[in-house]
Amino acid sequence: MSKTWSVDEHLEDILRSIRPLEPIELNLLDAQGCVLVEDVIVPAALPPFDNSSMDGYAVRIADVEGASEEFPAVLGVIGDIAAGSAGLPTVSSGQAARIMTGAPLPPGAEAVVPVEWTDGGTGSGPADAMRAHSSAPQDASGQVRVHRSVVPQQHVRAKGSDVRPGTVALRAGTVLGPAQVGLLAAIGRGAVTVRPRPRVVVLSTGSELVAPGEPLGPGQIHDANSFVLTAAARAAGAIPYRVGAVADDADTLRSTVEDQLIRADLLVTSGGVSVGAYDVVKEALSRVEAFGADEDGEQTDGASDAVEFRRLAMQPGKPQGFGLIGPDRTPILTLPGNPVSAYVSFELFVRPAVRALMGQEPVRRPTVSARLAGESELTSPEGKRQFLRGVYTPPAEDEETGSVSPVGGSGSHLIAALAQADALIDIPEKTSRVAPGREVTVVPLD
Ligand code: AMP
Ligand code: MG
Repeated sequence: MSKTWSVDEHLEDILRSIRPLEPIELNLLDAQGCVLVEDVIVPAALPPFDNSSMDGYAVRIADVEGASEEFPAVLGVIGDIAAGSAGLPTVSSGQAARIMTGAPLPPGAEAVVPVEWTDGGTGSGPADAMRAHSSAPQDASGQVRVHRSVVPQQHVRAKGSDVRPGTVALRAGTVLGPAQVGLLAAIGRGAVTVRPRPRVVVLSTGSELVAPGEPLGPGQIHDANSFVLTAAARAAGAIPYRVGAVADDADTLRSTVEDQLIRADLLVTSGGVSVGAYDVVKEALSRVEAFGADEDGEQTDGASDAVEFRRLAMQPGKPQGFGLIGPDRTPILTLPGNPVSAYVSFELFVRPAVRALMGQEPVRRPTVSARLAGESELTSPEGKRQFLRGVYTPPAEDEETGSVSPVGGSGSHLIAALAQADALIDIPEKTSRVAPGREVTVVPLD
């Protein structure tokens, strides 16, 4: 009897063989969700110039000193400055320029008086004109009465107050979320160097499988796995390619896998890995002949190409396979066929592999402790690590731990219960009973 592997041993073996993908330059939106591999330096100050944070009047401090409702400062309005204005008027003593949010502070001005602190100006149309944000320069000649004083730079966003040139905007290792993409755009970066999303090819095996949308013949079932695994691969950050179901024929499977290698950074199969008569994945992939071997059957890089099939001390998901195949030594994970087993196996092994290819840390999902809800005791097979499906309720405000309720049973064909679950309950090998109220380890899912 060959050895039985633990979940952690199998995962460590997979991760040992997986290197992060080579970085490439991607346009900002294509880089979303990827890990940056360069320190991005700010090329120029942001904001690039002093600008107004309010709609109002750009003024000189001395001109509005001591201004009040009773004794307003009366200033001559010399023009309008909209966001995007280029030729700026100079504000001299006794003058003001009407200014819009984001517009450059004109020379001579030292602060902005918000329109609410003025009478809105006269001779240049009603104060409504301010809100209209007309960018066309208007004849703004007229006067404005200012009711309050301001201090230097008040209501002004100083040049460089957001980021200074030469500083690091984002460090290598940062995962680019929406806010990071926004910062890169703001400092003018259109493309960045990141680790790309891995291309994950998903294929299911089974002569009984029919694509959803097609009618079922006798003995047939719909192919759920290639869909759940493709969706899970996308959710994990990969670019998935769903090949669909391949019949239980070793040559067909082998040639399909060979054809797919060209576009795969990682291959995932489901089904055909137990000890049944038609366990085609095992038959097709455990042969030692190399994928991509040359004409004499010599391996191109001298490495063994066989996929290793294992028994894991786990439920569901006992039969698992892993290997590196083809000229690029592409990792392949062969998952069991029951849909719940396939999905749990994806969570435990494929998702970490995808994250490792992307350079994402940590590769494993975070876990939490939760009390087992309900009245019934949980039982778990001795010597096997069990992953039950559950619904997790986070702690209430006055509590430290949340709770988790198992859904469905341990049957690995129970896909409806899987669809209700939002967490896995991780029961260690040594544990065979868990009483209600006891704490268990929970892996919240997306
Ligand atoms: P296997 O490991 O191929 O023997 O499959 C184990 C069980 O899972 C069998 O009942 C299969 O019919 C079922 N199964 C295998 N592949 C799929 C699939 N893609 N979608 C739904 N059920 C499947
Ligand atoms: Mg099968």
